[in-house]
Amino acid sequence: MTQREMDRACEILSAARSICVSTGSGMSAESGVATFRGADGLWNNFRPEELATPAAFRRQPAVVWAWYRTRRAQVRAVEPHAGHLVLAAWEARLALSACGSADSEPDRPLPFTLVTQNVDGLHHRAGSRNIIELHGRLDIARCTGCALEQRGLDDLGEDPRCPCGARMRPGVVWFGEMLPDGALELAANAAAAADVFLVIGTSGVVEPATSLIHVARSNGAKIIEINPEATPLSGLANVVIRAKCGAALTAIEERWR
Ligand code: NAD
Ligand code: ZN
Repeated sequence: MTQREMDRACEILSAARSICVSTGSGMSAESGVATFRGADGLWNNFRPEELATPAAFRRQPAVVWAWYRTRRAQVRAVEPHAGHLVLAAWEARLALSACGSADSEPDRPLPFTLVTQNVDGLHHRAGSRNIIELHGRLDIARCTGCALEQRGLDDLGEDPRCPCGARMRPGVVWFGEMLPDGALELAANAAAAADVFLVIGTSGVVEPATSLIHVARSNGAKIIEINPEATPLSGLANVVIRAKCGAALTAIEERWR
């Protein structure tokens, strides 16, 4: 992480009237939540790709539910890190500076939007508010029959049923499934309206991170990437910060204040 990159990122961010941030599982990694592709991505010798699919759930719903129980317990045991808090602080700061300005037309997207592929709710716990959760939430169950949603999953059984009789499933998006209705449109609107698009901790292998970058770029946004590894998105970025998100975001915040 060089001085020059940090200064440039801070300059771009502090001049922005509208920021869109896209986070992937690397954002949660520093809180201690395993990424799917990381070393500890395996569970009882299953790969996530063998569990997070509609076919796996049809074949062995109790196994899939057990995996989600494990993941919910992991997430309950960890806390948002300093990087999550920085993003929440930026949202509050931009809301304050937009307040009463000529930008506050009713159909204009809010000045700060957080688009996440994470299902762990850590951004909520850190105080972010305008969040688009593209892949749903670990702490929601949804009926496969009537689509009823249930929160607070502590006392779910091994193969829980809805009052309507149909099977309940985890309220997340599985490999090969569509995103929740309207979520992608909302995210694309925020990306198109942003002066800065900041992409953090996503490999860019899983859509729609890539398509959102293209939407932002073609509408004139500057792109900043924070990721310790090079990704297919790096070539599209104006500023690349090769560092962990906690350190990178706190360093930017120290310069900004
Ligand atoms: P992925 O491969 O898209 O991304 C992980 C990326 O994070 C990598 O590029 C890695 O270099 C980067 N990274 C690792 N540590 C980082 C750090 N400290 N700071 C910044 N970047 C860091 O993600 P995946 O794990 O394969 O997951 C694919 C999908 O699975 C996600 O889109 C998500 O829906 C789901 N998932 C969610 C969670 C969660 O909610 N916490 C966890 C695992 C998987
Ligand atoms: Zn039902």
